[in-house]
Amino acid sequence: MTSAIGVVMTERIIAGRLQDQRPVGTVLRHPGNVTEPEDLGTVPAGELVEILAGLISSLAASGGAIEAIGVAVPGIVRHGVIEDSPNLPQIKGMRLEQDLSRALVKRGVTAPVHAANDADAIAAGVAATRGQLDKLVRVWTIGNGIGYGRWPYVEGVWEGGHVVVSLDPKERYCGCGGVGHLEGILGYRAMRMRFLDMEPEEVFAHARQGDSRCREFVELWHCALAAATASFIHLSGPGRFFFTGHSVHFLDLPLLRSHLETMVRMSPLQSFSLEVLAPDDETPLIGAGVSAVRARSS
Ligand SMILES: [Zn+2]
Repeated sequence: MTSAIGVVMTERIIAGRLQDQRPVGTVLRHPGNVTEPEDLGTVPAGELVEILAGLISSLAASGGAIEAIGVAVPGIVRHGVIEDSPNLPQIKGMRLEQDLSRALVKRGVTAPVHAANDADAIAAGVAATRGQLDKLVRVWTIGNGIGYGRWPYVEGVWEGGHVVVSLDPKERYCGCGGVGHLEGILGYRAMRMRFLDMEPEEVFAHARQGDSRCREFVELWHCALAAATASFIHLSGPGRFFFTGHSVHFLDLPLLRSHLETMVRMSPLQSFSLEVLAPDDETPLIGAGVSAVRARSS
């Protein structure tokens, strides 16, 4: 029987205890008022560590011994360090595992801390909840940014949202400033920059009503996601792809599949499956905990 604590820090912080890969007890949230989330991007990094330590120590005190603590954050996370995090810029360069462990020891919590990318945590959570920890799971998270996650974890950068899917020099809406990136087409912020006169929801609605400029964009949106997915199929093989995130409701799975089928033509690569997951809090929480327990035992 394994006990862990999972924490996810994105627009807000969610933390919970896990028993054998299942959440138990109360899930803690910061800020507590979910209707008016404070912008975590404006909270100083040191304060974030203290907030995390406070949540974790109160969870640790609410039950038996904890084996590992997993913290999932957006960005490039390697060897316990947040190398970059465009949506939480203040944590760039933070030695999260080290800093948080130190803050926890002061509170009497000594379990090891493991930092993971948030999309990787979703992939781990999907694998765990479906009893498929022995299989390859890949996840696209579609929101302001585009995340790519995979289970099992493999050393690397894996910034799938920034793969180049267009050679058009006018495609420069990506948050990172790179030209032709997937996020520059799919990202919510990027769509708002492209259509200054319409919200993304209106673009997709107008496309359904036949507006040609909007229809063209919806095609491009699906082509771009198909192109990035096809690239990963050509690099690491077919298998399962999941799609989730705040903007996943824009995704038309049959349309994506039809584009993907034109891009993946080698028969050993055609056995891929595509599935939409409604975004939830539990999956990344479970994944953060599972990754931490695995990292400890490996
Ligand atoms: Zn980019």
